[in-house]
Order: sequence, then C-alpha cells, then structure tokens
Amino acid sequence: MGLILLVIPMFLAYQSVQQKVNIVDKKISWGYKKASNRSVDAIIIHSTYNASGTDSFSVAGVLDQFKSYGVASHYLIDRDGKIYRLVDEKNIAFHAGNSSLPDGRVNVNTTSIGIEIITTLYTSPTEKQYNSAAALVKDIKKRRVIKYIKGHNEIAPGRKSDPWNFDWTKFNALIE
Ligand SMILES: [Zn+2]
Repeated sequence: MGLILLVIPMFLAYQSVQQKVNIVDKKISWGYKKASNRSVDAIIIHSTYNASGTDSFSVAGVLDQFKSYGVASHYLIDRDGKIYRLVDEKNIAFHAGNSSLPDGRVNVNTTSIGIEIITTLYTSPTEKQYNSAAALVKDIKKRRVIKYIKGHNEIAPGRKSDPWNFDWTKFNALIE
C-alpha cells in the first residue's frame, strides 16, 4: 500500500514532464509531393469539417473531402484530441494553397507543416484538441527551428478564414 501511494504520484509527475505526443499513423495517398531534406520553419494551423452527410466531425468524411480536392495536411486532430499523421513531415503536403508568409515567401507548402483541427464555423476546438495541438507543436519545435506559427487566414487573408473560433491567447499559453 505504501509503495503504491508513492508510485502513483511519481508516475503522474513523470507523465506531465514527458508530455508524450500520441500520434496515430493514417497515411493517405493523395494531396502531397514526396521530398527529402526540405527545410521547414513554419507551422500552419487550419480547421476543417465534413460538409457532406450528417456528422460534421467525421474523420472519414473529412478525408473523402481532402481526396476529392487533392489536398492534405500532415496532421489531422479529431474532436477527441486524437492526432492522425496523414503525411510524413519530410513530404510537402498541399494545405496552404496560394499564400505567403510574413517575410514575403510564397510556396508556403514547401517550408511548412500543416495541422488541421476538426471544427465547424459554429463550434470551437475542444479542450482535448487544444491540448493535442499544443503538444504536437511543442514536439515539432523540439525537433525543428520554427519561425512562424500562423493561422491559414493570416497567410491567405481574404481567401481563407480558418482556423475558426480558435483562441490564440489560450493556444500560445499552452505552447510556451
Ligand atoms: Zn486552411
């Protein structure tokens, strides 16, 4: 009993330090171009939902849409916070479209990682989605030097409005 009482708090402390990111591989065959040794210094946050059918939050529906448009992000975050890896980070995913970074660079896909969060225009990301997105971004920042973390609307103003209902103050506090 004494040992258990000691072990549990130690385990919880260990978990909070680790902040391990759980990623589920769900590789797709469209919406990206293979690359090697590309340099990435931007992370673009998007939101998306399933516009056909009754379940706006359907992962399968979102993927069908991506497929029909020939687009993809590297990661897709489900409502329950599950992170799917659709495209390996080394490859160029088609998520940003016609856009430009604050320093004027275009072809944003070439130098960025795209993260899609399943949300509608009328719903906010869930707490679990915020936590997963933050954990993922922190993990990427551990592995790469990131200059920009931007919303799609910031790199394609007027053309794109996502991420919808995204609380940047909250998110920035989580990735500090
Ligand atoms: Zn977008």
